[in-house]
Amino acid sequence: MIYDQNKHDFNLFLKNWNPENEYVIYGASKDCVQLIESFNFLLKKNKLKLKYIIDDDKESLGVYKNIYDINSASLKPENYREKHVKNNLKVISFNDYMMDKDQKKLKIIIASDFNFNRIKKFLLSKNFVEDVDFCEYKKIGAIWPFKLENKVHLWRTDILMTEKCTLDCTFCNMYMPHYKKAKHRDINEIKSDVSLYFQKIDYVSVLHMVGGEPLMYPHFAEALDYIGKNFRSKIGHLLITTNGTIVPKQEVLNLVKKYACLVYISDYTDGINYRRKFNQVIDSISKNNINHLIRKDISWIDFGDPNVEKFHSVKEQIAHFDSCTAPYRGLNNKKYYYCHLNTSAILAGMTPLNENDFISLDKNPKAEEILKFDLGFPKLGYVTFCKNCNGCNTGINIPVSPSSQGLRK
Ligand code: SF4
Repeated sequence: MIYDQNKHDFNLFLKNWNPENEYVIYGASKDCVQLIESFNFLLKKNKLKLKYIIDDDKESLGVYKNIYDINSASLKPENYREKHVKNNLKVISFNDYMMDKDQKKLKIIIASDFNFNRIKKFLLSKNFVEDVDFCEYKKIGAIWPFKLENKVHLWRTDILMTEKCTLDCTFCNMYMPHYKKAKHRDINEIKSDVSLYFQKIDYVSVLHMVGGEPLMYPHFAEALDYIGKNFRSKIGHLLITTNGTIVPKQEVLNLVKKYACLVYISDYTDGINYRRKFNQVIDSISKNNINHLIRKDISWIDFGDPNVEKFHSVKEQIAHFDSCTAPYRGLNNKKYYYCHLNTSAILAGMTPLNENDFISLDKNPKAEEILKFDLGFPKLGYVTFCKNCNGCNTGINIPVSPSSQGLRK
């Protein structure tokens, strides 16, 4: 999106979205839980007055004694749960929300990357106005902490540990099979990136250590210990994604536990024959009481052939970028990229570095500049690699089952 001072100014947003009002969240998602949790941590004087949550799935309706039960993906170990979050939250249907006598006063925060476009379209069809009657969770999640309590909050940042992987998946969204000379990252570079990042950022809801296969990285324990020791209190979820082909060393397991990480284990066993090893990984993670989620039922998406340009005119590229809900920003070599997939495409040599697509953290960017970029306002109004990419939840949606994901033939 092209930034427009008359529409996107932070002060203007705040006029419409005052903490004195009551709010509702649309989407009983892990992002909803994370937003409640992050606001609880960040906003000391301006609490979010949340009346209830709306969801379209009948199975989700009801009263939740514990907010962490709202969505199964919002796993958090006891000792890292926010202590004073509002529990006993109600999840109701959109129809029930419309019957609320105060409905006109209740602004909606959409908290779902996956369903954002669908919910937005639905609300627009009911004559709701974006940024007046509803907004995206990342927007309020960035603007409130900054304008109300002078804190810089980003939603999610991915850090590449290694370009190497044990698998060679056809539809890898980090483009690992396209690297000609995959290498491990320099540990000192990772440390200095993270340190520079936290000089600018007060809190990130999700920090994601990713690969390739991150457990292949010989300095993984050192990187995790560095992040955990120095910055754990500034991170909501410290997330690690592995493909379940490597049993973590005991040193790594101890650190994962110590820093209360969440481990996502992608299960490709329907398409790749490594069940025995996968079971060993699960066994070792479970025995060590590690907070984890096996991701078997997620559908991988085909981002399309990265060498083929799919969107040609600037207008098409801006519209495509605006419809993409990619949650993952990237941190690499002192640069904060809007899209980690773009980071990987650059490292793989598939697309050139373009100053539009990142913020140089070592050039002393202003906090507001970082936040506006993070909210989807790169100078051109799109990321230059978008022309080659199908995007996330854009409506193109070519699903890839675990069995067709498989190994590159
Ligand atoms: S469309 Fe653009 S922003 Fe979205 S995933 Fe692709 S490169 Fe990233």
